[in-house]
Amino acid sequence: MLANIIDGKKISADIKDEVKNETAKLKEKGIEPCLAVILVGNDAASQVYVRNKKKACEYTGIKSLSYELDEDIKEDELIKLIDELNNRDDVNGILVQLPLPKHIDEQKILLKIKPSKDVDGFHPYNTGLLSIGKAVLKPCTPAGIIELINRSNIEISGKNAVVIGRSNIVGKPVSMLLLSENATVTVCHSKTKDINKTIKNADIVVAAVGIPYFVKEDMVKDGAVVIDVGINRLENGHLAGDVDFENVSKKASYITPVPGGVGPMTIAMLMKNCLLAAKAQNGGGDI
Ligand code: NAD
Repeated sequence: MLANIIDGKKISADIKDEVKNETAKLKEKGIEPCLAVILVGNDAASQVYVRNKKKACEYTGIKSLSYELDEDIKEDELIKLIDELNNRDDVNGILVQLPLPKHIDEQKILLKIKPSKDVDGFHPYNTGLLSIGKAVLKPCTPAGIIELINRSNIEISGKNAVVIGRSNIVGKPVSMLLLSENATVTVCHSKTKDINKTIKNADIVVAAVGIPYFVKEDMVKDGAVVIDVGINRLENGHLAGDVDFENVSKKASYITPVPGGVGPMTIAMLMKNCLLAAKAQNGGGDI
């Protein structure tokens, strides 16, 4: 049996179109959603991510403000800018592109972003809401994974879901979201014993390990749903996921490719968060 391929390009494009339509409706009411993106320094990968975020804003009709700051900017100055943006009524979302230079304390900066404008969903207030199943601004990659599964009409409720990886940006939040969707969730990590046995029991496997081809055909059960979050650059320059796609796809019922699976969902969900933040700040719901 060959697995159905979950098309992240198509699903993310659908979500961006939905955001575009809703943004147009908000604008008719005089509300223009606006995202402020702060980039510190000259990291090449971060520059690409920021450019793609701006492009997605243009596509969806969300206004974007861009702040490109010197590598050696002082922590206080960055905090001053965040405070200004926190206080501006016309700015709905604030995103500080990570990683930050070493002399700046990332956690301290993330704490300064007003939770209602935290469109990355990384502020502890929002991660707290996530853990009690009440988050509005959910971390983008994990929320995108849930959309991929739901929009493929795959039932999550009652399923055994195994998440490989426990990072604060993927593993932990996606575990919380799967739990909210009524899966029975097991989280594996670098210290987990007998990981193969645990994965073999999974109806849904989410691989967020950062090791190319970590999940092999003999580790998954027949018919499992396999979501590959990994983006690993190989020595030959090619991209590889955390799943051995070629062989696992012969056994899984559904699988996400790399690229074209989880990857494009992150920015789509960022756009959705900007829209949700703009609505909530204009009386359209609580955050
Ligand atoms: P991370 O390095 O912060 O976390 C990796 C996790 O894997 C850790 O919790 C660790 O305990 C676990 N782990 C490491 N070795 C293991 C082993 N041998 N067995 C079991 N678990 C092990 O990584 P991350 O930030 O969570 O990212 C994971 C992958 O997802 C990376 O490839 C990253 O590039 C990718 N990623 C993709 C997106 C996207 O698609 N937009 C977003 C974020 C991360």
